[in-house]
Amino acid sequence: MGFCLVAFSHSRLSSYENCPAQYRYRYIDKIEVPYEGVEAFMGKRVHEVLERLYHHVARHGRPPSLAQVLSRFQKDWRFHWHENVRIVRVENSESFYQDQGARCLENYYRSHYPFDADETVALEHAVQLVLDEHGRYRMRGVIDRLVRTGEGSYEVHDYKTSGSLPPRRRLEQDRQLPLYQIAVQQAFPDAREVGLVWHYLAFNRTLRQGRTEEQLETLRADTIALIDEVTTAAEFPARTGPLCRWCDYRELCPAVSGADVAELAEAAAADGPGETGSPEERTAVQASESGQPDSARRGQLSLL
Ligand code: SF4
Repeated sequence: MGFCLVAFSHSRLSSYENCPAQYRYRYIDKIEVPYEGVEAFMGKRVHEVLERLYHHVARHGRPPSLAQVLSRFQKDWRFHWHENVRIVRVENSESFYQDQGARCLENYYRSHYPFDADETVALEHAVQLVLDEHGRYRMRGVIDRLVRTGEGSYEVHDYKTSGSLPPRRRLEQDRQLPLYQIAVQQAFPDAREVGLVWHYLAFNRTLRQGRTEEQLETLRADTIALIDEVTTAAEFPARTGPLCRWCDYRELCPAVSGADVAELAEAAAADGPGETGSPEERTAVQASESGQPDSARRGQLSLL
């Protein structure tokens, strides 16, 4: 059994599962890349505006108008846009993603107005959890919105800006939100029930699931085993696949030549998002988990 010194994130483990070589570039060699994917860029902007929206409701006791919400999104988009935002699907323009982000916000706004159906406990809430009784295996993450629906009853809400809906079985295998469920149970002793809620904003779909204690135990054991594998790995082989097209390190990865990337792109188009999740989901998870702790952000994102 290994000894885990760092708090892993879901995206870090996913990076290893997707491709050990990518994991090595990002987390061991710590190679910084100057660009960010447009999917992650759009996801960040949508998350920020939804955070602002709930802060506005808490502060003013009433929601902002939809026009205010969309105006803030467009302003933030223009303010943050930079020349190193990378659009992999070259058939799509910047405005395609801008429109998709706006649609995500409008869908959410119309479905949840006036935003008083439940009690928001925390927004963009940084969490840590321990997986073993000795506290050697730790995970960290960021909950988009933590909600209290009644006494001892909580929900973990996660916003997805992906352009594809996952099949139910992939949500049943999801690791991220069930880990956050464990984090909530550890942080809130009164938490008797914790629901998991995914908002697929572009489709205006809300998907809900729960996990039993038995399922969470299996998740803990599987995650500890995966952390052991990652921390004791001696080799980090490249694992080519459709997601290479979105990989930050594809230019320096010897396993992928220019011709290969084109082939992989065709395969990706033919296969769709597949079992590993869409690139939008992958990059958005990385973006949301790299966010600042809520305490540091609150002052910056207080108003629309
Ligand atoms: S380009 Fe593909 S094979 Fe190479 S590191 Fe990235 S994901 Fe792995």
